[in-house]
Amino acid sequence: MHGEREFSNGSKISSRKGNSMGLVESGKMPKPLTKLLNMSRRYSMWVYQWGLACCAIEMGAAFASPRYDVMRLGVIPLPASPRQADFLVVSGTVTDKMAPAVRRLWEQMPDPKYVISMGSCANCGGPYWDSYSVTKGVDQVVPVDVYVPGCPPRPEALLEGIVLLQERIMNEDMAERWKGDPIVVE
Ligand code: SF4
Repeated sequence: MHGEREFSNGSKISSRKGNSMGLVESGKMPKPLTKLLNMSRRYSMWVYQWGLACCAIEMGAAFASPRYDVMRLGVIPLPASPRQADFLVVSGTVTDKMAPAVRRLWEQMPDPKYVISMGSCANCGGPYWDSYSVTKGVDQVVPVDVYVPGCPPRPEALLEGIVLLQERIMNEDMAERWKGDPIVVE
């Protein structure tokens, strides 16, 4: 399925099918191997950070401060690149001008990939929901796995969102994930 979305500034983004993976796509993954892979993925999550407004300060505290020590959860907050990232955190106000760039860089992340939307602005537009230039939630351009509410959420709230995502990854059936229809964002 293909879809296209047009923003107020005239830019467009299209949705398309993602590439599939051979071994997993075959649907013949033994359960112990699935569990082992899921546990490995759960505790080695490289994060790609999109700090777009004030929520980014809280995200920075969660990822960079020794007080929260996010690496104890198995999160690697180092690469400023989508190429090695496992999950994306969008924190702050997503504007219609920025939305196509968020989508483009999300497409450059390898599968399987996940998205956390942090804060009211990223969740639904927040205090700017009726602005002509603000996207009403980043889930209009990329599929979101976890929503962290708040304006802004505290770093602990983001950490809880990460732990919930890790629980989801642990229980994921990789074969099922690739057998179903691709996630299409219209
Ligand atoms: S949700 Fe609140 S704190 Fe976060 S970016 Fe929007 S206005 Fe700023």
